[in-house]
Amino acid sequence: MTIASFHPPRRTLMGPGPSDVSDRILQAMARPTIGHLDPAFIGMMDEIKTLLQYAFKTKNELTFAVSAPGSAGMECCFVNLVEPGDKVIICQNGVFGGRMQENVERCGGNAVMVQDAWGSAVDPEKLEAALVKNPDAVLVAFVHAETSTGAQSDAKTLVALAHKHGCLTIVDAVTSLTGTPLLVDEWEIDAIYSGSQKCLSAPPGLSPVSFNARAAEKIRQRSSKVQSWFLDLNLVMGYWGGEGRRAYHHTAPVNCLYGLHEALVIVQDEGLENAWVRHHKNHLALRDGLQEMGISFLVPERDRLPQLNTIYIPEGVDDALVRQRLLTEFDLEIGSGLGALAGKVWRIGLMGHGSSEKNVAFCLNSLKAVL
Ligand SMILES: *Cc1c(COP(=O)(O)O)cnc(C)c1O
Repeated sequence: MTIASFHPPRRTLMGPGPSDVSDRILQAMARPTIGHLDPAFIGMMDEIKTLLQYAFKTKNELTFAVSAPGSAGMECCFVNLVEPGDKVIICQNGVFGGRMQENVERCGGNAVMVQDAWGSAVDPEKLEAALVKNPDAVLVAFVHAETSTGAQSDAKTLVALAHKHGCLTIVDAVTSLTGTPLLVDEWEIDAIYSGSQKCLSAPPGLSPVSFNARAAEKIRQRSSKVQSWFLDLNLVMGYWGGEGRRAYHHTAPVNCLYGLHEALVIVQDEGLENAWVRHHKNHLALRDGLQEMGISFLVPERDRLPQLNTIYIPEGVDDALVRQRLLTEFDLEIGSGLGALAGKVWRIGLMGHGSSEKNVAFCLNSLKAVL
């Protein structure tokens, strides 16, 4: 048997990620692979760091991309900041908060869960009550933009509460980065992780992270070794940091990083604030079109993410069949519901390059045709 080269179909990706990758980024990734210790490559890595600092709105030195998807960025934050016996308060309002709990427990930590309904933002009052009840907690973790529901939480308020009670913070910004306002330094977020494949519109496989001086100090003060060799920041920073003397740690995914570099240059050229405005405008256009079709949103208007629109499946409509027809007849991918929301909702992503007037119209017309 002879297997031929793989040629993927051309789709329009309007699900929860990966989002549409522009030709400009795909072309950047097709450039020649060079050595990962080549001075030209190291110069590009330094630029990625500068561009990530811009996108995160931070001056944090410890800002780089983990060589693996968003889930690895999550794990990187937890394995470095949680030591056995540490008490961590996790605010959960969807799927990804549950993964945070898994991470804490696997680090030997003690996870205290604060639950909110799926589709709601995290309630700051519940967090405050948990902080009062657990004065020995050392960390607070929550998801800024819950991709499983489309709800956005008030990161600034949650971080301030955590600090008031002496806790550091880990924030999941996988879906929020560059899609919605996120001010790492101004909000004093201690550790944050994101992903390349959502609003950055680069292919999956990289996870931008950033740690402030307080988080770095906690990592330096650890009494036990980080359980993961690959994600141990003390080792990784020898690779990303340390001007001129970059030591081999692992082989960077060279061409994938070309893609991230190009994605960040695109964000810089558009301007971060303009990108936020664009995401918001296209969300409003999609919302109006869906409402005209009688379709309603899971999340109350105030807490809605512009880049991830979770809508109720109209009554009597076959969830899987509609998504399958959108894919086969229109080459359009939208997302299904996760966990408790499976079969009840669809998730329409307007992320990064995919957040355009053209995509809004295409999605509305395709949905109308199929329904
Ligand atoms: C997508 C996502 C992740 C995981 O990222 P991967 O790149 O799929 O590993 C984590 N958290 C949130 C909120 C996400 O949307």
